[in-house]
Amino acid sequence: METLPACLVRDQLQILGRDILTTFMMNFHPMIFMVGLLFVSSCKGHSQDADIFKTRREQMVRQQIEARGIRDERVLDAMRKVERHLFMPSELASRAYGDFPLPIGYDQTISQPYIVAFMTEALDLEPADKVLEVGTGSGYQAAILAEICDTVYTIEIVPELAARAESLLKVLHYDNVLVRTGDGYQGWPEHSPFDAIIVTCSPTHVPEPLVAQLAEGGKMIIPVGEQFNQSLVLMEKRKGRLSQTSVLAVRFVPMVDENQKEY
Ligand code: SAH
Repeated sequence: METLPACLVRDQLQILGRDILTTFMMNFHPMIFMVGLLFVSSCKGHSQDADIFKTRREQMVRQQIEARGIRDERVLDAMRKVERHLFMPSELASRAYGDFPLPIGYDQTISQPYIVAFMTEALDLEPADKVLEVGTGSGYQAAILAEICDTVYTIEIVPELAARAESLLKVLHYDNVLVRTGDGYQGWPEHSPFDAIIVTCSPTHVPEPLVAQLAEGGKMIIPVGEQFNQSLVLMEKRKGRLSQTSVLAVRFVPMVDENQKEY
């Protein structure tokens, strides 16, 4: 992040003439020259990494997401844009765009990219929508939602994960995401009703408070079931009644309460 202005300075100097930077550095103490070179080359390294990750994101969208039938342009654009590799421990960044979930610490995982895209598309989001996510984890799914919608509320039960996601989302300027530490089974009544609810941990039944906090015409997507046998269920509230369809077999971490007891 901090290297960006330096990259711009370097580019401007290059426009003025390729050797100006070197000549400038050579006239100073060799130590400054070395520091300058290291600085410039690390700057170059960063922009090369950014290019590689951008290419991998485009491949990820083409090969894993579009190829499996996701068509919503807003979802595809968000998946192309959000830098997934920033949402995991740096030693896993090189695997960030693979077709699998990855560990994010505290026994939790960031979902496979296709599942993120599938769940987001199922919600049929509009820019003006207010969305609730249960299970912030790394904050990646929240960032995808925030690219599409005005306001995202997200709840995480592990305080360390909530704090980490909140500060990362802030650094990345996702000012439209509100993170809270707590038990998402209860939803976030103060901000309800929600036009869409996405649950990224799995209870054995649909939490009643979430149903109550879904707006008329709103949709909820939630993995429901026992640990090795869960279905993604898509629900829609119409005239106060809920329709419910199982759309995909999945495997998510369990939804737990503050005593780690599974719902
Ligand atoms: N959406 C996340 C991945 C979530 S993994 C991402 O994009 O990275 C599921 C998360 O749900 C875990 O972080 C887990 O701690 C959290 N979780 C489990 N039970 C919860 C509950 N009752 N309320 C809120 N979060 C919960």
